[in-house]
Amino acid sequence: MISPGIVTVSYIAATILFILALGGLSNQETARRGNWYGISGMAIALLATVFGVVTQNYVELMAALVIGGSIGILLAKRVQMTEMPELVAILHSLVGLAAVMVGYANFMDSSVHFEGVELTIHDVETYLGILIGAVTFSGSVIAFGKLSGKIGGKPMTLPGRHLFNLGLLIAAFWFCREFVIQSAAGDGMTPLIIMTVIALVFGIHMVMAIGGADMPVVVSMLNSYSGWAASATGFMLNNDLLIVTGALVGSSGAILSYIMCRAMNRKFLSVIAGGFGTGGGTTAKVGGEDQGEVVPIDAEETAALLANAKEVMIIPGYGMAVAQAQHIVYEITSALRKKGVNVRFGIHPVAGRMPGHMNVLLAEAKVPYDIVFEMDEINEDFPDVDVSVVIGANDIVNPSALDEPDSPIAGMPVLECWKGTTSIVLKRSMATGYAGVQNPLFFKENTRMLFGDAKDTLDAVFKAL
Ligand code: NDP
Repeated sequence: MISPGIVTVSYIAATILFILALGGLSNQETARRGNWYGISGMAIALLATVFGVVTQNYVELMAALVIGGSIGILLAKRVQMTEMPELVAILHSLVGLAAVMVGYANFMDSSVHFEGVELTIHDVETYLGILIGAVTFSGSVIAFGKLSGKIGGKPMTLPGRHLFNLGLLIAAFWFCREFVIQSAAGDGMTPLIIMTVIALVFGIHMVMAIGGADMPVVVSMLNSYSGWAASATGFMLNNDLLIVTGALVGSSGAILSYIMCRAMNRKFLSVIAGGFGTGGGTTAKVGGEDQGEVVPIDAEETAALLANAKEVMIIPGYGMAVAQAQHIVYEITSALRKKGVNVRFGIHPVAGRMPGHMNVLLAEAKVPYDIVFEMDEINEDFPDVDVSVVIGANDIVNPSALDEPDSPIAGMPVLECWKGTTSIVLKRSMATGYAGVQNPLFFKENTRMLFGDAKDTLDAVFKAL
């Protein structure tokens, strides 16, 4: 056993390491170091809790650590890069579930005694912890379904959904009052269970109502909720580290949601209220027949265009992750740079299926950071670009976001590659992207379509180069 003083110092050290981890993760060059800070902070936190806070039931604790840890290691080893977004979503759901379980356990624990105002405060903490936990749990399970394609990406909006949500919110407040009153009389389980059901329904309804292209905001929002759920658990258990760590995750997730909303030109409240992505203007043209013909190109012609270009912009999207084409992209980039071609990467904030998805892939393939640019930094440069190579991207280069007010992605800033001399789009078919809308870029005069799996076609381009 270690003394309470050492536990406090360890918790402070862990908190500082978590803050350093967040700082590190905000930049590719320092991300690896940030990860190590996070791992060290978590190790210190675990050790201090196991040997300083826990006083009994060591056998159960060790069994839980071994089972949970083994499942974690197995999942982390098995998961494909393309499955990361849904893994993150399901992990958020576990944080929510843990908050619900801790809340119930804490409520039923006969050794926890409070009276008067303290009891009321503790009851409200328990109630909020279970509420946020249940919303996080069910919302994340639906997000997992949507991200893994098990549930359709289209928003499911009930008639009168705002009233329904309002009704659930009022009911949650009402049952909170009931719970506090009944708990003071030694009861309270019924309102707690009813609220849990309400919160589960709210989580499902909220995420079901959000349209495909707005999913990034949901992912970061659930990330934030999972932090608040952990923080609420910290209040219930009177554990300072859990409160601070939860608040760090909660607030960084909230900032990320704000960044995502800004990137997509959406108002946070409108996204949460749901219903975006229901516009029907462009979906009528999904077949694309009325947009003209597309012009295909082959790998040799692509290589020739690239070799003769001065300015090349590579725009990666979700398809690059699916094809695992990042390594051959790096080879091509190096070959072109050796020939004196200025190659840059343009990264859309919602490219792929999780925040920073493309940056992670490019870092994995060792693409130099100084040629990877955010959309805002390079969008005005496209008129000077000779060839844009769009690798498995679709929604993030869709001009209808700018000129079709009825489009489900209307208002979302996109990479305006069509303003350059030539755009080459690599994809397997004419299928739509995540938002389910056809892309007029494919039919533009200066666009060429290179059909096939991105890795195979890029292998061929590299050979031809
Ligand atoms: P999209 O999903 O819009 O398009 C990806 C394209 O890649 C598809 O059109 C597909 O066409 C093509 N593709 C798939 N597999 C391959 C392959 N093996 N080889 C070549 N092409 C392939 O992706 P974007 O990155 O353009 O946009 C991201 C979308 O995901 C946005 O709508 C965003 O809102 C949403 N989203 C983003 C999240 C985030 O946090 N970043 C989270 C959740 C959703 P084809 O089948 O014809 O090959």
